[in-house]
Amino acid sequence: MIISNPKGTQDFLPLQSGQKHLVETRFRETVGLYGFSEIVTPTFEHTELFLRSTGLTTDIITKQIYQFIDKGGRDITLRPEGTPGIVRAVLQYNLKLPVRMFYIGPMFRYERPQKGRYREFYQLGVEAVGEIGPDIDVEIIEIGSRFFTGLGLKDVITKVNSVGCAVCRPKHRTELGLFLERNKAKICDDCKGRAERNPMRIFDCKEATCQELYINAPKIVDYLCFDCQQHFQSVLNELVERKIPFELNKMMVRGLDYYTRTAFEFVSSSSELGAQDSLGGGGRYDNLVEDFGGPKTPAIGFALGLERIMLALGTPRPIRKAVYIIPLDPSIQKQGKELLRLLRNANIPALLNNPDKNLRAGLGIADNLACEYVIIIGSEEVKKQIYTVKNLVKRTQKQVPQNQIIEVLTNKENQS
Ligand SMILES: [Zn+2]
Ligand SMILES: [Zn+2]
Repeated sequence: MIISNPKGTQDFLPLQSGQKHLVETRFRETVGLYGFSEIVTPTFEHTELFLRSTGLTTDIITKQIYQFIDKGGRDITLRPEGTPGIVRAVLQYNLKLPVRMFYIGPMFRYERPQKGRYREFYQLGVEAVGEIGPDIDVEIIEIGSRFFTGLGLKDVITKVNSVGCAVCRPKHRTELGLFLERNKAKICDDCKGRAERNPMRIFDCKEATCQELYINAPKIVDYLCFDCQQHFQSVLNELVERKIPFELNKMMVRGLDYYTRTAFEFVSSSSELGAQDSLGGGGRYDNLVEDFGGPKTPAIGFALGLERIMLALGTPRPIRKAVYIIPLDPSIQKQGKELLRLLRNANIPALLNNPDKNLRAGLGIADNLACEYVIIIGSEEVKKQIYTVKNLVKRTQKQVPQNQIIEVLTNKENQS
């Protein structure tokens, strides 16, 4: 029997799951402030959907998708990202526009696993379909900023750029092509491939020699058409107006080809992340709905990587919550059960020690289960109707009359 998880997957053990839940809760709260509602789409779709979204023309579609023929002969792909499924749903159900949606769920890409990069990974994302901007562009960037600040991640930088549109890109593409042709001898093999397929992606190259060379390469933001220029300037002005810290980065282009105009990325300088320092990003995708056969519809969104956010947050500490009841003698088990029922009925999580475990063993279990309180009941306590309540967080204990137990456990003021 195989007793390890498949390469590139990750188990969220109880402690990590607690942290995952916390991140997701913060995310829901933050996007809720901006009027986003949840959408849940399937984890797999018809392969054609991903083939049709122009964002996946290159690396992802060729090498990285989990594709299979199901038992009914359908060509199916595990979703490598959230946007295509959501755009499909918008068209399929003819959703009234504009619409603001968010999602949380697993995505799948057959990539080389490394720290912070998995083959099954979770994304937290937003999509605003039907708003031309530039206000929504800024709102979306602000959501990311607010979310990271709320999590206590202070070292996140927001890089902002514009990647233009179908009007302004061709001229830039030609100029960039000429630049790459002139410098063919100096660029890495990966970049030679990119130069043929999609030259703008060369800016993603991590090779130091390429990076240095591209400082002097033509940047799309310097080739923007009048409309794109206006849009971008408004975005920048509004970011300043709203006091959202950002960095204009002309070399920042996003991984997906379908982005238009505003593109942005959230980068962490946390030492936990190393080379995988991007916590996520997004951009405008004004042509995607049309590419899917819908009407021309402006849209913008982002996707954040849950595993990297968790890495940046650091190892979680257990959150202590339940009450562990230890009757000191099997004859008192009945009183223990009564208290157990009383606590649960009052919505207080509670557990009861098994009679075959003594006090010492019981305290060990309570600690393992990250309980907040231990209540010890001995025969004297039963007689006096006064129980010993130990607070495992504050490492204190006190005697509490039985009829005040609930009050003491639920009243944070009284806790000691
Ligand atoms: Zn343009
Ligand atoms: Zn390169």
